Amino acid sequence: MGEIKRVTVVGAGTMGTGIAQVCAMSGYNVNLIDISDDILTRSINNIKWSLTKLQERGKISEDAARATLQRIKTFTDLEVGAKDADLVIEAVFEDENLKKDIFRKLDQICREDTILGSNTSTISITKLASVTSRPERVIGIHFMNPVPLIRGVEVIPGYHTSREVVETVKGFIRSLGKEPVEAVDYTGFIVSRILEAMLNEAIRCVMDGNKPEEVDKAMKLCCNFPMGPIELIDLVGLDVLYNALCSLEKEFGDRFHPAPLLRKLVDAGCLGRKTGKGFYDYSRK
Ligand code: NAD
Repeated sequence: MGEIKRVTVVGAGTMGTGIAQVCAMSGYNVNLIDISDDILTRSINNIKWSLTKLQERGKISEDAARATLQRIKTFTDLEVGAKDADLVIEAVFEDENLKKDIFRKLDQICREDTILGSNTSTISITKLASVTSRPERVIGIHFMNPVPLIRGVEVIPGYHTSREVVETVKGFIRSLGKEPVEAVDYTGFIVSRILEAMLNEAIRCVMDGNKPEEVDKAMKLCCNFPMGPIELIDLVGLDVLYNALCSLEKEFGDRFHPAPLLRKLVDAGCLGRKTGKGFYDYSRK
């Protein structure tokens, strides 16, 4: 199997932007693809901002920041941006049909030895692999948000993924200064499955009369959490948590049934920090 030199990232949203940045910081040439130039410009601006912050904290030199940006090229055409890739990391919306469509196209566009990875949090890797002619070269590569700061990356082999591909991808992740964690291909893998269950239970604590502030304080002071679960829900977005719980409920049953208060707040448009109100009110801050 060839060495990974050229990485294509499909989707330049929150995750794709971070993934492109960390790959380019480690010396990979990155093609970043999205559906419009506006989105790509915003993504590059976010990378510039993040590199400036890293420079201010002395984590990266000015030269390294400049070289990082030079390694990233942007595209709106999937074919042009993906045809020379050694590894593709798909990071489009969490929509099974959209992802399947992209995997079908990538399978046509890319060389037969190209590895096709997905950053999905909940969709089965085996299912995504099934629409390609190379299921042994399809794998989950689940980076966490914010990508430049979080060290762990889940690696999820599908049913047919070869050990050689798993080991190549683990080596690639280590080359980014991160540590791979291998997880089994079930909805939510390891991290989302445990985290979402805990966050849902935190909401049930609030429903039982606990104040959000006290729930957060308890978990920070008694469990050494860097951030309280309710604060985290407001940061991630209540709609994002609700959708993830619905996917987990489909796979594992009632134990992931979203807390009624979560659904009520989502229906009310209180989605967390991004709307100015979730469990806490951010409108005056
Ligand atoms: P996002 O909404 O920020 O970005 C998705 C991007 O995909 C958008 O810029 C959109 O324009 C682009 N896109 C849509 N259709 C496309 C197409 N046909 N071709 C190219 N680009 C297309 O989403 P995100 O939060 O970055 O999530 C991306 C993936 O990462 C999802 O599968 C999500 O579950 C997963 N994930 C998200 C987080 C997180 O905290 N946000 C963490 C881990 C994993």
